[in-house]
This record gives sequence, structure tokens and C-alpha cells, in this order.
Amino acid sequence: MRLILLGAPGAGKGTVAKLLTQIDGSVQISTGDILRGAVQAGTELGKQADAYMKAGDLVPDDLIMGIMETRLQEPDCAKGFLLDGFPRTIPQAEALKVLLNKLGIKLDVVANIEVPREEILNRLTTRRTCSNTSCQAIYNVRSNPPKVAGVCDKCGSPVIQRDDETDEAISKRLDTYFEKTAPLIEFYRQEGLLLVVDSPASEGVVDAIQQRIAAGA
Ligand code: ADP
Ligand code: ZN
Repeated sequence: MRLILLGAPGAGKGTVAKLLTQIDGSVQISTGDILRGAVQAGTELGKQADAYMKAGDLVPDDLIMGIMETRLQEPDCAKGFLLDGFPRTIPQAEALKVLLNKLGIKLDVVANIEVPREEILNRLTTRRTCSNTSCQAIYNVRSNPPKVAGVCDKCGSPVIQRDDETDEAISKRLDTYFEKTAPLIEFYRQEGLLLVVDSPASEGVVDAIQQRIAAGA
């Protein structure tokens, strides 16, 4: 499947993407994970992205498009891909449209995961992430804690609160989402690709997406 997952930070895009990859081997492409990996590895890209990310600001569109142009042409994308956290702005969506046309790729669906703002705030302040950049497993101190507090179940690395998950950075990220990313909902509605899902559980979101793809819409 070839799809875009839209939704505010904390809407569960990453969790839904992971579930979907298990269905047909499509790869999850998370620009956030790629950027955090680059920051930790100290690459040139990481150096350029770091300050924006810490502040809860978006990384400039040209850096992101450079990453995506390369990533979408890697062989593992042939089976399909789930874009998680990209596009984030109208210019990114427009550039993606041009890029996909050039590569001869057609999207199946753009799923917008709708979650009420209070629930988003709740989830983000209690979210914890594995510090190992090749793992990046996600936990929640209330609803899904690691078996041993502070230690990743999958790889044993420390489980931490991300730099951009302080209260201040979270509220900045939400403002940025409503201002820059929410307009993509209308953009993709006009493209005829939008599916709105408001299931509270990730499994429900996955079912709705599968049904839509099966219907061939
Ligand atoms: P979340 O969806 O939880 O906000 P991500 O992991 O998707 O977090 O992104 C973390 C940060 O990485 C963002 O706040 C932003 O600084 C940067 N980022 C990720 N994807 C993009 C993108 N497509 N465009 C611009 N910045 C991005
Ligand atoms: Zn881990």
C-alpha cells in the first residue's frame, strides 16, 4: 500500500504505521525518526535540523524534500510505503505530488487520524521513546509502560522523554500543526484521496484504512 498518515502529534501515526507494515511489508517512513537518527549520528543534516526540532519548529522544506527524494527511491519502497510525519506543509505536499508523478507512483489513500486536543495533550506528556535510534519504540507511562521502568522491552536501551516533549515544546508543536499541517486535510480532500478516521484505538484506524484500500477507492 502507498499511503500518507496525517494527524496531530500524538494522534498515533507511528503506531498505526507499525501495524500496517506487518500486513503487507510496506515500509514505514518517518521523517521524525530519520531526523532524530541524523541528529544523534551528528551528520550534516542532523546539525542543520537540531535547533528547529528542539524548539518544536518544523525543519525547512528543502531539507525534508532532499531526504524524501532519496528515501522514496530506495528498493524497499517498491512494496509500498507509509508516510508518517510527511508531508507537513502545503509546499511539501505540492513538491511530493511532483516527485511522485516523476517516479510514476500513485497514492492509495491519505488517512487523517482525528483525536481531540485534550487527548493529544494527555498522550504527549505521558509518552516515552526508546533512546536507541535504530529502535525508537514508543511507550506511555500510563497506558503502555515498559516492563521494567525506564528500560526498553525490545532492546534494553534507556526509555526517555524526548527533548521536544516538554510542555512548552508540545504546545508549540500543536500550534505549528494547526497552522501549517491541518490545511493538508483540505488539500487531499480536493485530490480525492482523503479518508477521515476517528477511531480511538489504533486497531480501529488500521481496519478503516484496510477497508478503504480493499474497496479500491
Ligand atoms: P510528532 O509527529 O510526534 O510531532 P515527529 O517525530 O514526526 O513528531 O517529528 C519531530 C520533529 O521533527 C518535528 O517537530 C519537526 O521539527 C521535525 N519534522 C519531522 N517531520 C518533518 C517534516 N515533514 N517537515 C518539517 N519538519 C519535520
Ligand atoms: Zn528500544
